[in-house]
Amino acid sequence: MFHSAALKLTTWYLAIIMAISIVFSTLLYQVSSADIGHNVNRQISYFNNLLAPDESRNYRSLRTHQLDEDLNHLRSNLVIFNFLVLFFGGAASYWLARRTLEPIEEALKNQSRFASDASHELRTPLTAIQTENEVALRNKNLTKHDAVNIIKSNLEEVAKLKSLSEGLLRLASGKDVLQTPQTISIKEVLNESVSTMQSAADDKNIVISNKTSEQTVFGEYDRLVELFTIFIDNAIKYSPPKSEIKISTIKRGRNLSVKILDKGYGINQIELPHIFERFYRTDSSRQKINAGGYGLGLAIAKKIVDAHHGYIQVVSTENKGTTFTIVLPVRSNID
Ligand code: ATP
Ligand code: MG
Repeated sequence: MFHSAALKLTTWYLAIIMAISIVFSTLLYQVSSADIGHNVNRQISYFNNLLAPDESRNYRSLRTHQLDEDLNHLRSNLVIFNFLVLFFGGAASYWLARRTLEPIEEALKNQSRFASDASHELRTPLTAIQTENEVALRNKNLTKHDAVNIIKSNLEEVAKLKSLSEGLLRLASGKDVLQTPQTISIKEVLNESVSTMQSAADDKNIVISNKTSEQTVFGEYDRLVELFTIFIDNAIKYSPPKSEIKISTIKRGRNLSVKILDKGYGINQIELPHIFERFYRTDSSRQKINAGGYGLGLAIAKKIVDAHHGYIQVVSTENKGTTFTIVLPVRSNID
């Protein structure tokens, strides 16, 4: 599809280049031939008065012949020029067409990969619900206790589906630009994120030490709360019980760095570059740790940080822990 679109675009570019080149060549030929003809006629009439009639006739035929030759030469040069324009213009047009279509092709590929990954993830809980209900319907001796268990298990799957669809929605609709950015207290943001995750931390006896100073960042309050909740959620999820999470902030020039350090399972160096990809989960979190999730959190986090013109750094050592540093601007970049 993109190959034929590239060819169509090439044809259009080339048609425009050739139209300009042909019009330009025709005009050049007309102006030059009129100019040369005019000069030759002036010379002929000048020598007509000086030379004898025979010599003057010879001179006229010589100059007319030369004029024809010059015009022929000019015509063939212009034809060669137009062939060169056709050849090089064709190559340049194709290159330009490919470059124009590349980002569209990439976006479309991403979109379809996203759709197929999302439907793949949606299928697992849906299949579980379907199978459980079918088995229950076939069971003639189904007790009330069995039915309650099945409903509970179905509700667990529905909760997974709900969190997946919420994540997908956030990724699809999260704006790339901020709507109403303003100066915000990072302490308030982090306090809210920590309190959202406090009960999950308590369940695992994890202590969150929040050493945030009175600093500000430029952004959107709700999206920043969501951002830090994602990192704290991960730090809790990928740490063993009774471990510790430290949150601190440092101001560096126009930026504020927020560090979230955990002493958890860590990420190996091969998987580290991929953790911000949508649906990416490390092998250990899928198999060994068996923590729930869809691999959407960090993709959403990256989107939020990009919208704030910030960046994320990560350092991790397996079985020692992970530190995420989120760098955000303190002021609007227009200031
Ligand atoms: P979701 O956030 O959608 O519920 P998730 O936590 O698996 O699922 P992400 O938050 O995007 O997805 O994280 C991607 C992967 O990166 C995780 O599966 C995990 O393997 C790894 N990871 C992220 N944060 C940490 C961390 N603090 N320690 C160890 N591994 C981490
Ligand atoms: Mg996560």
